[in-house]
Order: sequence, then structure tokens, then C-alpha cells
Amino acid sequence: MSKRDYYEVLGLERGADQKEIKKAYRRLAQKYHPDRNPDDETAAEKFREVSEAYEVLTDSEKRAAYDQFGHEGVDGQAGGGFGGAGAGGFSDIFGDVFGDIFGGGGGRRNPNAPQRGSDLRYNLEVDLESAVAGTSVDIRVPRHIECERCDGEGAEPGTSKETCPTCHGHGQVRMQQGFFAVQQTCPTCHGSGQQIKVPCHKCNGEGRERETRTLSVKIPAGVDTGDRIRLNAEGEAGINGGPPGDLYVQVAIKPHHIFEREGRHLQCEVPINFVDATLGGELEVPTLDGRVKLKIPPETQTGKMFRLKGKGVKPVRGGPAGDLLCRVEVETPVKLSEEQKDLLRKFQDSLDGSNSHHSPKKSNFFDGVKKFFEDMKP
Ligand SMILES: [Zn+2]
Ligand SMILES: [Zn+2]
Repeated sequence: MSKRDYYEVLGLERGADQKEIKKAYRRLAQKYHPDRNPDDETAAEKFREVSEAYEVLTDSEKRAAYDQFGHEGVDGQAGGGFGGAGAGGFSDIFGDVFGDIFGGGGGRRNPNAPQRGSDLRYNLEVDLESAVAGTSVDIRVPRHIECERCDGEGAEPGTSKETCPTCHGHGQVRMQQGFFAVQQTCPTCHGSGQQIKVPCHKCNGEGRERETRTLSVKIPAGVDTGDRIRLNAEGEAGINGGPPGDLYVQVAIKPHHIFEREGRHLQCEVPINFVDATLGGELEVPTLDGRVKLKIPPETQTGKMFRLKGKGVKPVRGGPAGDLLCRVEVETPVKLSEEQKDLLRKFQDSLDGSNSHHSPKKSNFFDGVKKFFEDMKP
């Protein structure tokens, strides 16, 4: 599958400026946001595509690399492995753009008031063994932090902000539209009431810069898919001196090749040959802490469940460990020699010649079939 051009994804011309990119992203991200399109794979894919395009095109270094070399120039360095193999990828970066769409709280608010930074979410896949035992994982998280050159002010050190000449510091302007006077956010200062005369050289006046941090996350023993681990204050930087948001690590357990997890219980399938199933015997079954022996009684039928108490998972929120449920599956032998086949034919003859029922299911089944046809007779 070839990747679409980032500008095309956002519906922009090549020379689009940051404002146009932001505007296009807001529109598309709102449209395709997972919260608005639950269980819609196409929308989720579009959302990833749009977020990735946005991430690259708003980063001047990545954008330059992309403009020159195309996807090859930025692949593998987009934060956290967007939409790639999936493992440990960043699903969405709410960043500054979503802060005021979903956070907002509505109504007019003081644009200079301290604002808490956005929360971030990181999707982390953990294998079953690590989830059960607990582990610690290093994750790389791209986020905005306060610019240290200007202390988040956006003005070049030594210079100061001045009152916005358009709105005289009110942040709002009145526009006459026909008979109506409409109050609008000032287009010059975007509501802050202040204008930066000399933008900070490091952050271009934004007051924040991008950073990718490596964080060590402690995964407590017993976590399950859907659990969230909160890392206090590791989200986006706040605005106007507000506190930073939090980072939520959303856990998903990878499928295991032997065990299926059902809360605190584990389940697995154990093949058994028909001789052991008939005569009874001992099987070795796997558990998360080594092999254990399982006694199989004579005349065990396929599908029979055996419960190994306490061999499941100890839940993260406390309580006793669950059980391991082993479902035996009787196997039909394959690749038999003529001699072996002959033995089986003789064996079957001996069953046919005896007076007892040797196939409990089969006898019940045919009795049922007989009754079914008798009941149908008028
Ligand atoms: Zn700065
Ligand atoms: Zn203004």
C-alpha cells in the first residue's frame, strides 16, 4: 500500500503556512476523531493518516526532510511509530490543537488565564507473561514542553509583549455585520490581548517546543487489556503558566500462542491421543510458571475441561489468583501403516461383536434421530 502525500491528506497546497495546516487538521481531526466514530475502522485509519501528516508538517525539520525526500525522508522518525507495526505506537497526539476543542468548557474565557496542558494517551502492547509478572517498559513520548529560552512567554528574552493595537488589549473586537454588531475574537492576537514584538528564536513565539522523552513505565503485575496507567504531569505543557497534563498509558495484552486470558482465568487446549483418553493417563500441561502433571481419568471425552486451581492470573486490584482451564482435545491418529490400520479394523470388529455400547455420544445421537423421525410421522 503506498502512502498518500501529506499535503493531499490535509487538502493543502505545498506552500501552506502553519495556520492553514492547523486549520485543516482541526477540521479533519474533528471529523474523523475516534470519539465521534466509535468502531469505525475507516475513520480511525483516516484519523491516523491526518495526525501523522499534521505531526510531520508542523515540525519544521521533518517538513523540510519530507519536502525534499518524500516519505522516505521522515519514515521511522515520526514520533512513536505512527500507524506502523502498531506495537507501542502513539495513537493520537491531542496536543495544542485539541485542547480548546474538547477541553474548552464553552463560553468566553480569559485567554491569558493559566490553562492546564492536554492529557496524552500512549497505547502499549504487553505480552501475557510480562503482564502477569509485572515489568517495566521504556516508552518514547513526543510532547510539547515549555520553551526554556523564553520561559513559555513566546517573546525573545530582553523584549516584552505589547498591547495588541487592534483590540487594545481586550482580546475581542466588535464587527458590524448589517444590522448586527458581532463580538469576535481579535484576529491579530487571537484573543490574548497582547502581541509579541520579537518572537523567541527557539520556539518562534509559540512558547512551547516539541520534545521526545524516554519514560520508564512500571507495569504492575496482573494488568489486563483496558487498564490505564497514569503518569502524573507527563502530558503536554500548560499554557500561560498552567500545570502540565497527565500521560495515560493504555494497556493491551498481546495474543498468546498457548493461553487465552479471560480476566483472572487462563484457558488452553491440550491434545491427547485416543488411547490415553480411553485408558486414562497423565499429561504434562503448560502453566505460566512451568509444566505441571494433569491426571486424565479413563473414558475422557473430547472437550472435557480440567481446572487447575490457582494457576491463572493474580488480579492487579488484589484478590486470589484465577484458575487455568485445560480443555482436552482427542486427536485422530494420522499416517498409520497398513499393519496399524489392520489392528484398528480388528479392534472395531471386536467392538461390533460385543453387547455393550462403546460410543456414548453416538448411541444417544442415533436414538435421538430415530425419535425425531418417529415424531414427524402423522
Ligand atoms: Zn521560546
Ligand atoms: Zn488583539
